[in-house]
Parts: sequence; C-alpha cells; structure tokens
Amino acid sequence: MDTIEYSSRDKELANKIKAISDEAKPEDCYTCIKCTNGCPANKIFEGFAPHKIQVAAHMGFVEDLIESGILWYCMNCLTCQTRCPMNTSPVQTISSLTNIAVNRGIAPPKVFTEMIRAVKANGAIIQPREAQTTDFDFLTREDLELPARGIKDPEKFQEALKIVGADQVLEIKKAEEEK
Ligand code: SF4
Ligand code: SF4
Repeated sequence: MDTIEYSSRDKELANKIKAISDEAKPEDCYTCIKCTNGCPANKIFEGFAPHKIQVAAHMGFVEDLIESGILWYCMNCLTCQTRCPMNTSPVQTISSLTNIAVNRGIAPPKVFTEMIRAVKANGAIIQPREAQTTDFDFLTREDLELPARGIKDPEKFQEALKIVGADQVLEIKKAEEEK
C-alpha cells in the first residue's frame, strides 16, 4: 500500500485544516490510539492509522500526507470521531486533506471517480439486479412491485453534485487520464 514519507513541513498549510473543519482539531490529539484501534481501514491496510494522520497534520506534514495517497483508504465510517476522548475528528482531518488535494488538482484513485461517474449517470453506485428465487426464477423490481429507481429531478441532482465538487473531481481525473 501507499506509505507516507515525512519530509515537507509547513505549519501554514496545517492551518488550512482549521479553516475547513473546526471539528478536526489535530492539535488536541494526545495519541491514545483509540481511533486507530477501532478503525476498519487499519484492519485492512496496516499502514493506515488515523492517529498518525492527526499527529502528522498537526505537525504540518500536510504536503506529505496529500502526496502519499494514503488518505483515500479512509472509509468515512466516523468510528474514529466517536471513539476520540478529546473530541477531535481524524475523519474530518482526512476529509479536509482530501479537499486540499482536490483543490490542488490531485484526483482521487480511479475507484472513487468511477463511483462518482456511476452516481452522476444513474443516481447510484450499483445498479439493481434481478432477485433469484429458490426455484431459480429471476424477478425484477417490477415483478416484486417495488418502486421504480432513478433520479427524480435530474436538473437538481446534477446541481447538487456540482455543489459537492463531483464535477471538479471528474474534470481533474479526465485531464489526468488524457495526459
Ligand atoms: S482517539 Fe483522539 S486523542 Fe486518541 S489518538 Fe485518536 S485522535 Fe488522538
Ligand atoms: S472514518 Fe476513516 S479513519 Fe476514521 S475510523 Fe473510519 S475508516 Fe478509520
């Protein structure tokens, strides 16, 4: 997996996290490691540790965190935030850092942009599949009298995606893919 190489320290850049999120508070972390002990991403990717990200962000290693690619392993489950005895939020630090990355023109890994593309096109990451019965019959949502799926108001939906930065991310990825 990606690893962080600490080399570039910039306290000014660390202040940007504060500007984005007042919940992140990496400066209040006292490295009890409760966040990392409950982090599902840490169980899969050993090198991913929210307490280390808090400390590195507070110390100003923002550039290194962004460049490492490690931030994208976070599953946004919020466990770290709920477990923190200091009421800090590693996940908010991570989100702030990914925001800084995108604003600098760094696109997330392909798996993210593919999910965004799917949501933009169909309103969902995964399309509904037919259900299989014990008699090996296949039933559609219609067969099961389930409501139709899809985007109710395409215009408003696209507008909302634009506001959350989906289009910006896709443009960055497109430029990267065309290089
Ligand atoms: S739980 Fe909170 S105080 Fe403990 S290491 Fe994680 S961020 Fe720091
Ligand atoms: S939100 Fe991210 S960093 Fe926090 S516990 Fe979940 S996966 Fe780990």
